[in-house]
Amino acid sequence: MKRLESYLCGRWIAGQGPATQLINPATDEVLAECPSGGLDTAAALDHARSRGGPALRELTFAQRGEILRAMSKVVHAGREELISLAVANGGNTRSDAKFDIDGGSFTLAAYADLGARLGDRTILVDGDGVQLGRTARLYGQHILTPRRGVAVHINAFNFPAWGLAEKAAAAILAGMPVLCKPATATALVTWRLVQMLVEAKVLPDGALQLLCGSAGDLVDHLGGQDVLAFTGSSDTARKLRLSEGVVARSVHINVEADSLNAAVLAPDVSPGSESWNLFVADVARDMTQKTGQKCTAIRRVLVPAERQAEVIEAIGARLAEVVVGNPAEDGVGMGPLATRAQLEDVRAGIARLAGDTEAAVGGTGEVTPRGVPSGAGCFVGPVLRLARDPRAAASVHAHEVFGPVATVCVYSGAPEEAAELVALGDGGLVASLYSDDRDWLRGALPAMAAWNGRLYLGSEKMASQSPGPGTVLPLLLHGGPGRAGGGEELGGMRGMALYQQRTALEGDKSLLSALVGE
Ligand code: NAP
Repeated sequence: MKRLESYLCGRWIAGQGPATQLINPATDEVLAECPSGGLDTAAALDHARSRGGPALRELTFAQRGEILRAMSKVVHAGREELISLAVANGGNTRSDAKFDIDGGSFTLAAYADLGARLGDRTILVDGDGVQLGRTARLYGQHILTPRRGVAVHINAFNFPAWGLAEKAAAAILAGMPVLCKPATATALVTWRLVQMLVEAKVLPDGALQLLCGSAGDLVDHLGGQDVLAFTGSSDTARKLRLSEGVVARSVHINVEADSLNAAVLAPDVSPGSESWNLFVADVARDMTQKTGQKCTAIRRVLVPAERQAEVIEAIGARLAEVVVGNPAEDGVGMGPLATRAQLEDVRAGIARLAGDTEAAVGGTGEVTPRGVPSGAGCFVGPVLRLARDPRAAASVHAHEVFGPVATVCVYSGAPEEAAELVALGDGGLVASLYSDDRDWLRGALPAMAAWNGRLYLGSEKMASQSPGPGTVLPLLLHGGPGRAGGGEELGGMRGMALYQQRTALEGDKSLLSALVGE
């Protein structure tokens, strides 16, 4: 059986003590084990600070971009092996696995392109300079330089390849070394991916390290030049926010957490139109892709009262086509949840929703999966619930059910009411608005924007090119306020800001421009 090791201080090291088993969630077969503990995390952080950081800071943006390009090629070259591991360890269908792995190489390549555009410099200017005195002798200019610490990335179980790649792309381009800690349950893909990167020798020593198993005392050793970027549950986020480094030493922290993403159908969209078809396809895809275990998946579907029955029928027809089962079998469109713990959480979440809503499609998720021994695996079928009075259905807006589960929420069709219902989710990663009526969108947009990190405007004009709201794009912001964690990742250069210190320079204009090259 495979035993996962960590890549720390330039070598592969086995952890000590009790091991966590990594399973195939379709068959319950044990695939690997990962011992936790006994690893010197302080030494690993020092290695990043003393070796990886200086090596990256010596490089220009264009040169760091070349590292990212090489990383992207390594991921692409290894994709078939990584896809097989994701099917086995993540319960992913082949298409789910490609979404994660190709998403990772695409994001690295996008940041490589950004590095090429930023070119042969090592310092970035931030905004325009300003004249401060009577003449330009006293002038001000903000600059951005890489923080001198290490970027610690703690990732969730659902994107073991993309999670590493999207965070590492922004940090490495900004000039910070990375220590990545994947979620243990699905770490097989990340572990093999880092092996491939190490074997390909595409990164300077100390620029990328991997910690497999529990985080141990990692976070306790962080200081004011370090960065902690976390993706996962709000419970863990709360613990990290209260950790000594963050509270007492101002460790920069970014949190990507839960989100009750909404899809809103406007009253102008009628059945059979391009926008209607896009809406139905997006909701059904988001419910079933990666078995609904996407932070951006649609959880609440706001529908004008007169369209409720047609929407449930159309989404139900799509869901009925999805074969649930062992993702290694041909024809299976949705695999199991990633772990037993997720299965229990999702069942509890459906039970909570059932107290507040009516069944619309799929009851409470009972399913007979294809190609699976009786009783094995972490399976739940797609579940669509109905809230006729969504204000009275508190659980719909309060609990993220991290599986193939969504609720149709009936509203009047007024944009103000849609915005009010979306806001009950207390902050989201993305809301999608389906309308070809610009006045309706003007009415909805300002309030929706305040509560969401991204707004996806689904219309007939963009339908043929749309990847759907669940796809996170490297050049657009990923993150959201409130419940979503308050974080900001990606968005091109915006995603690098976490890893850079902004400094105001105050002095003679000609000196400033000689120093920073503007
Ligand atoms: P989780 O239990 O919070 O775990 C996330 C990560 O934190 C794992 O690597 C875990 O390691 C680690 N961890 C747990 N306790 C820790 C501690 N005390 N100190 C340091 N690290 C600790 O979350 P999850 O179940 O993997 O992920 C599901 C959640 O993530 C969902 O709620 C989903 O919404 C959210 N999510 C958000 C986004 C986003 O971009 N906003 C993306 C994906 C998922 P171990 O695995 O070793 O315990």
